[in-house]
Amino acid sequence: MRLLKKNLVMPVVMSLLFTTGIFANASINYVPDAKIEKQVQQTLSRMTLEEKVGQMTELAIDVLGHWEGDRFILDKNKLENVFLKYKVGSILNTPGPVAQTPEWWQQTIRTINEYSLKASGIPCVYGLDQNHGTTYTMGGTLFPQNTNLGASFDPELAKLAATITAYETRAANCPWTYSPTVDLSRDARWPRVWENFGEDCLVNAVIGKAMVEGFQGPDPNHIDKYHIGTSIKHYMAYGMPRTGKDRTPAYLPEWELREKHFAPFKACIEAGATSVMVNSASINGMPMHVSAKYLTGWLKEETGWDGMIITDWGDIDNLWKREMVAANKKEAICMAINAGIDMAMEPYDLTFCDLLIEGVKEGKVPISRIDDAVSRILRMKYRMGLFDMPNTNIKDYPKYGSAEHFKAAQDAAVQTMVLLKNQSGILPLAPSKKILVTGPNANSMRCLNGGWSYTWQGKNADKFASQHNTILEAMQQRFGSANIIYEAGVTYNDEGLYWEENEPQIERAVHAAAGADVIVACVGENSYAETPGNLDDLALSVNQRNLVKALAATGKPIILILNEGRPRLVSDIEPMAAAVVDILLPGNEGGNALARLLAGDDNFSGRMPFTYPRHSASLTTYDYRVSEESGTMEGVYDYNAQVDVQWPFGYGLSYTTFDYSNMRVDKTDFTAGDQLTISIDVKNTGRMAGKESVLLFSRDMVASIVPESRRLRAFTKIDLKPGEMRTVTFTLPATDLAFVGDDGKRHLEPGEFVLQIANKSLRINCR
Ligand code: BGC
Repeated sequence: MRLLKKNLVMPVVMSLLFTTGIFANASINYVPDAKIEKQVQQTLSRMTLEEKVGQMTELAIDVLGHWEGDRFILDKNKLENVFLKYKVGSILNTPGPVAQTPEWWQQTIRTINEYSLKASGIPCVYGLDQNHGTTYTMGGTLFPQNTNLGASFDPELAKLAATITAYETRAANCPWTYSPTVDLSRDARWPRVWENFGEDCLVNAVIGKAMVEGFQGPDPNHIDKYHIGTSIKHYMAYGMPRTGKDRTPAYLPEWELREKHFAPFKACIEAGATSVMVNSASINGMPMHVSAKYLTGWLKEETGWDGMIITDWGDIDNLWKREMVAANKKEAICMAINAGIDMAMEPYDLTFCDLLIEGVKEGKVPISRIDDAVSRILRMKYRMGLFDMPNTNIKDYPKYGSAEHFKAAQDAAVQTMVLLKNQSGILPLAPSKKILVTGPNANSMRCLNGGWSYTWQGKNADKFASQHNTILEAMQQRFGSANIIYEAGVTYNDEGLYWEENEPQIERAVHAAAGADVIVACVGENSYAETPGNLDDLALSVNQRNLVKALAATGKPIILILNEGRPRLVSDIEPMAAAVVDILLPGNEGGNALARLLAGDDNFSGRMPFTYPRHSASLTTYDYRVSEESGTMEGVYDYNAQVDVQWPFGYGLSYTTFDYSNMRVDKTDFTAGDQLTISIDVKNTGRMAGKESVLLFSRDMVASIVPESRRLRAFTKIDLKPGEMRTVTFTLPATDLAFVGDDGKRHLEPGEFVLQIANKSLRINCR
């Protein structure tokens, strides 16, 4: 029985949104193609065990060749060994790893396919981490990172980025990407916060699904030559390691796994994602790579999904070398394959093939499991059209790295930058002011892009992206070189670890500030990816904070630009800034996008995709359980358990103002089978056109497990001219308000719920 709680105080938040059904019981949204199913079975029926195991193997390209100077050359003997002897079915990664030209890729993958087809008549599937555009193909388009796409709250924008990335990836003859990433960024310390769409499961589900559709095109059974297959990753709960360090264990109740971490994967596979990559670490002591429950049970059997599961890098080896759940490699292989792994990203070791064959012959892995795995791999290759057209022709892709695509990346970046503070309307910057541009992120393409940019760690991006503008270059172009003074004050040591800085020269920046009217201080992080990006201190570097403090002492107004992959603490310097913008990792066109916004050519519309912490020991997410925070208690025990954050999830300002009114719902009493229609009028009451993300939150007032403070239930983004008013309507299946209980099942309990959009709310009652 639910009780009605009185005196509810709802935190005031900025927004809300739309239509989902995303949490309902799973079922795939496409019908398998009968012709493909027949072809899969025919191909399978003529394969030997060696050929089947070869299909289940993925190697890194490094094993196929050698370097001559700065050129990677495929080696005939190695190709023959890998394909003719071992019949390997998949290759990944770029040699180095460093980006190559589309022409190089065309020829390289064509050669690989020649060997693969000769060996078994089956084309090879090549995979690349095109994580925010053409990571590993030179001259292509790099979009804002996924954390920015989360900040846009705009699935259509994300879909366009994925569509262009797919086109440019196929231009390089590559049919498959390990993207999108739909881990939830729920721990600010984790070095992969920026690779996904923020902390909320609905945002990750909606934007992840949109990207799968953008990458793969409209028909998951027939992915045409302008689209690519996806491997959504990293299944699941990778983003919540207890230590905050990459690839370390998570401990999570099953209802949280089901309700939050599983949801985006479910949305993406229902949309037809061709494959899923597995979380390298463990949950509740069980490495994900050996969890039959989560791999076969939840992902395949419950949903009816017929795609294939691939390991992450070397993770079968990790089962016996790091996780210690297997005594040796053969045991690790058998455990993983039996749990539901279909393809092993080895990536250097062909003993996988020999040992799996032994395991099958010894009866440790049933041949039915091998046949199931190979069917899934073949199905993916057929769906990608590789049997009919193993290679593409570069002539079909005239828009590769075109001005049109770069413009799309710039427009996207504009929509992803978050204005967090704007005292006395200091922004937009008045024309012909003298501007000091300073800070280690001011003149760096590496910083704008972050990791997975031409190289794994993002190093050398300045060499590859020289035709794009850094923040400094874009400011010089937009505001006139004569108006820009540049003095970095602090610089990174680009040859060292990502956090290393050179000896600071703060006094030079302070001296330069004397000639300026306003200071644009660009601080944050240098690029990193995965484990090398681990940190010990969440605060922004001491040098950078000292730079801002010294500049503040000049009395000149400071515009603080945060350019970072995760929220580094700035609570001591934020009060010194007149304005703050978090540009996150906006990609190659981020400098130009920021200059447009600072000049007022465009309006800000991004919102924080995660909770920005204020203190190192107060890390939280917006959907915390209500008892995680309590105010001061009356009486003897005057304790304080408030969680004080710097900027909440969903927060973001604009140059214009929006007024919300007339929030209404079609039913104030409802039952589980109902659909709720919620509307609100939104008016642009300022003087500038602007986009507004409208976010719909709910709160379950009393529940049989401690309810959450709020949950995002729907969102949409609208565009309003000055004075224009629009009615936003969300349709919400009442079942979306359910929670997963201790029994792992979804519950919608009778009682009161509050629905909230911006500063408006209303109460509804579940009967
Ligand atoms: C990363 C994955 C990536 C894979 C292949 C791994 O180290 O965790 O995100 O897709 O490498 O490059």
